[in-house]
Amino acid sequence: MLIIASANGAVGMDAAMCALRNGGSAVDAVEAGIRLVEADPAERSVGYNGYPNILGQLELDASIMDGGTLNSGAVAIMRGFPYAISVARQVMDRKLPHVLLAGEGAERFAREIGAEQWSSMLSDEVKGIWRERLIENSALLDMDAMDGDSPLLDAVELATDPERVAGTVNFIAIDGKGDICSGVSTSGWAWKYPGRVGDSPIIGAGNYADNRHGACACTGMGEMAMRACSAYGLVSYLRAGLPIQAAGQKAMEDLRDLGGDYIGGMNLIALDSAGNHVGMTTRAGSTYIYQHADMDAHREKERQFVEIPARWAGEARV
Ligand code: ASP
Repeated sequence: MLIIASANGAVGMDAAMCALRNGGSAVDAVEAGIRLVEADPAERSVGYNGYPNILGQLELDASIMDGGTLNSGAVAIMRGFPYAISVARQVMDRKLPHVLLAGEGAERFAREIGAEQWSSMLSDEVKGIWRERLIENSALLDMDAMDGDSPLLDAVELATDPERVAGTVNFIAIDGKGDICSGVSTSGWAWKYPGRVGDSPIIGAGNYADNRHGACACTGMGEMAMRACSAYGLVSYLRAGLPIQAAGQKAMEDLRDLGGDYIGGMNLIALDSAGNHVGMTTRAGSTYIYQHADMDAHREKERQFVEIPARWAGEARV
């Protein structure tokens, strides 16, 4: 039994390992671990206190995938329900013929299944940071005069900075039966355009698991993982017979080879069906965590670095 997670998953690692030790499935472990990150008041990129979109609305994305059946469930741009991973799991488990519910449909479903709903999510501190960020760009956005048709394009372009204000949590578990599950949850880029969906709820982009080969989950600029199909891409390299490090390297090279004007940071965690694991990153020195069932505590491990020069609106970015 093994769990790997992005470093911000540390607060959920004990709960996830406890689920596995008590005979729970990999799906149980991933949900248990991610819920604690979603509930963490210090977490700015996941759950109830993540950074909101440009209008100050918190829109959550999450997905979960069962590598035994390739069943998966996901929610996107969901407001008012802090435990996005649990709603995603219910999309998978409730025998809906669907994989992804977005916006009002996701919220309606969450209400129907009795998911925990909070009338207010963001702390005053996070609201204050959002306001400050907009004031910095106040020449572009007059919050007092805003209505449903006010232009946001220029403000989003300036206010959004995925290098500084994004993040996501990834968990991947292998349970006692050898089943693999991967889960991802995020509030997405801070100050994003309303309705923007990232890679986290897109199966194959930010998340993929297949017992036969392995699993991968992403954090970073979701648009890149969506364009390169990164999570599926890495697993397909495992399927082709590459060892885990080489599969990770190839998936990062696919990201590096993307054209276009917007290229930012990316991080992957992945494991193969034998339990070999790797973390990949464009930010030297960043880490991920892992724990086998016979370990008392999780350990941190440095990710493999691959350089992908960032660019923004076509300009090189330092
Ligand atoms: N991947 C997330 C997204 O694009 C954000 C992040 O992980 O930094 O929504």
